[in-house]
Amino acid sequence: METPGNLFCVAAPSGAGKSSLVKALLELDSRLAVSVSHTTRQPRGQEVDGREYHFVDEARFRAMVDAGEFFEHAQVHGNFYGTSRRAIQTRLDGGEDVVLEIDWQGALQIKKLFSHAVLIFILPPSWEELMQRLNRRGEDSADVIAQRMTNARTEVAQARHFDYVIVNALFETALFDLKTVVHSQRLKYAAQRRAKSQVFASLGLG
Ligand code: 5GP
Repeated sequence: METPGNLFCVAAPSGAGKSSLVKALLELDSRLAVSVSHTTRQPRGQEVDGREYHFVDEARFRAMVDAGEFFEHAQVHGNFYGTSRRAIQTRLDGGEDVVLEIDWQGALQIKKLFSHAVLIFILPPSWEELMQRLNRRGEDSADVIAQRMTNARTEVAQARHFDYVIVNALFETALFDLKTVVHSQRLKYAAQRRAKSQVFASLGLG
């Protein structure tokens, strides 16, 4: 599917710093919008329905799947997550750039639908550092952390299927890398042709 807007998918194992990086990127880049996913998991802490996620029950989620309302959906850590068509189609059609913060399964599904989607994987610098970050967050029990570390091995192994890989050792460096990927994508011939179709047409460029 071709759209004037660029589509970025950022995936990472839990604790690699994906959410903080995407949040910082959005603050710096007013041309980028984040897509709000649907999930069956319970809201955490300060999360607000419609802001971090659309929180729905499993019956509603399944009905949306059956009605073909999702571009992609996946089960992650025992809950369902999905990107609804409504969340991104209008923006992409209108030439806005959209970032999806989703897991690797969703990112690979998106790439099949949108061949111009740019897949970015955030890696931790080491397993030890990932473990320390999960502990430092203080959000999860030891059992949950152990489960996340096990899942992280499967997730990290998927990085090879992504277009870009960013190692988040130092936050500022990783943010610079992320900005660079977004900027370079916007300068690609096909992206420029989509975004600046009138200029291209007036210059006789197909
Ligand atoms: P959390 O519950 O910690 O917010 O998210 C758990 C995982 O689900 C994260 O890797 C997050 O990026 C991923 N996720 C969030 N929304 C979606 C979505 O719409 N689709 C998919 N496939 N994964 C998602």
